[in-house]
Amino acid sequence: MRTVKLASGGAMPVLGLGTWHMGENARAQAAEIAALRRGLDLGLTLIDTAEMYGDGGAEEIVGKAIEGRRHAVYLVSKVYPHNASRQGTVAACERSLKRLGTDVIDLYLLHWRGRYPLEETVVAFEGLKQAGKIRDWGVSNFDVADMQQLAAVPAGSACASNQVLYHLGERGIEFQLLGDMAEAGIVTMAYSPLGQGPILGEPTLVAVARKHGVTPAAIALAYVIERPGVVAIPKASTLAHVDANAKALDVRLDDQDRADLDRAFPPPKRASPLAML
Ligand code: NAP
Repeated sequence: MRTVKLASGGAMPVLGLGTWHMGENARAQAAEIAALRRGLDLGLTLIDTAEMYGDGGAEEIVGKAIEGRRHAVYLVSKVYPHNASRQGTVAACERSLKRLGTDVIDLYLLHWRGRYPLEETVVAFEGLKQAGKIRDWGVSNFDVADMQQLAAVPAGSACASNQVLYHLGERGIEFQLLGDMAEAGIVTMAYSPLGQGPILGEPTLVAVARKHGVTPAAIALAYVIERPGVVAIPKASTLAHVDANAKALDVRLDDQDRADLDRAFPPPKRASPLAML
């Protein structure tokens, strides 16, 4: 499995599995667990979840999927901003650990910026780290100025990752944020790396996929994870989709592919606020 190095010394798998909208419907549970297990079998050993997803239901699905194989999984979860006070963060983490059926989360993220001062959340994260309940912490949906403010708070520079919207159809972070994070040794986690689907029918992307004998999804993912310090977390709830996404690990884009994709999905020409879902 390809990995990206973390400043703390750990390593994060470059391709993982999203879980947004999992755990919302009891009838889908078996298929969701099967999809996650198939992903783990194929080397997509990072699972991204959050206390928000399915009101804890997604974490419960993940707990079932990783039963007996926790050691082989890099587990990411997130605290709601409205829970991210000093004590609230610790309590939320305890609840997540219980639903996940584990005693440690590899990476624990602040889901987006809320009303609690960053200092307070960082103190809580550092305490959780010292207590062995999380291995690293990070943030999500943080723009350039947010990252600068975070770096200025005590222990703020220990942030391991920022999870942001990034896919071929939404390349805004390439203007500055991506470079800033690479320079600071902070891993970029690309969420919605398939653009939630609609980009996958774009004719140039389809043509590049045909040339490589894979699906457009595999090309969209390969495009994102070939950048240094970037990992992607596509969500797939069918085995066929998981299989197609795993193929991204074998794709090597060439200069012609990149030029074609740049024409179809132009890079940003100017700064713009971070896009988010
Ligand atoms: P996504 O991964 O870009 O797209 C998911 C959609 O694409 C689903 O409808 C899925 O269908 C479909 N799909 C998956 N593989 C496919 C393939 N090979 N071919 C065609 N379609 C395919 O979108 P996302 O779920 O929004 O983002 C991924 C993960 O990022 C989330 O699940 C979540 O863990 C995380 N996320 C984080 C934030 C944040 O604020 N931090 C925000 C959004 C997302 P099926 O389900 O039917 O397979």
